[in-house]
Amino acid sequence: MIRAVFPGSFDPPTLGHINIISRGAALFDSLDVVVAVNTRKTPLLKPPQIRTLLEEQIEVLKLSSVKVAVHNGLIVDYCRSIRANVLLRGVRSSSDFNYELELSILNKQLGGIETVFLPTEPRYLVLRSSTIKEILKYRGNISKMVPPSVEKALLKMV
Ligand code: ADP
Repeated sequence: MIRAVFPGSFDPPTLGHINIISRGAALFDSLDVVVAVNTRKTPLLKPPQIRTLLEEQIEVLKLSSVKVAVHNGLIVDYCRSIRANVLLRGVRSSSDFNYELELSILNKQLGGIETVFLPTEPRYLVLRSSTIKEILKYRGNISKMVPPSVEKALLKMV
C-alpha cells in the first residue's frame, strides 16, 4: 500500500497542479493533497478556500482516492501522522529540479521519506501560480490556466 502526499501552496491551484494530482492518483493507492501554510508569504487565497477549490476539482474528476488537507508545520510531520511513504512533486524545468532535489534530500533527512518527481506535460510547462497572479493583477485572461471555479474565485478578488 503506497500512501502519497502532494504538498504545495496551490495559491492559486492551476491546471498544472490538477494534472499532477490526476497522474498521482493513478500511481498510488491514496493521495493526500496538502495545502501548506506558508508563514512568510501573504497568500492571495486563504488555505481553507484553496482546499475547497481543490476538493471541487477532485470531485469533478471523480478521484476517490484523493483527499485534501491544510497543514501548518513541517510536511514530514504530516507524512508521519498519516504513515505516508512517498512525497509527490511536479517538475517543470531544470531550475525546478535543482530546488526540488535539495528539498527531497532535506525531507529524506528529516523524515526518512522518499520523493517521486513527475515531469510536467508540455502544455502546462509555463503555468506558475506566481505568473497567474501577475496576469490577474493586470486583468489578463487566465481561463486556459486554471479550472473555471478557480478563475471565478480569482476574478472576485481583483
Ligand atoms: P510550492 O510553494 O510548494 O512550490 P506550488 O503550489 O508552487 O507550491 O507547487 C506545488 C508543486 O506543484 C511543486 O512540486 C511544483 O513544482 C508543482 N507544479 C506547479 N506548477 C506545475 C506545473 N505547471 N506542472 C507540473 N508541476 C507543477
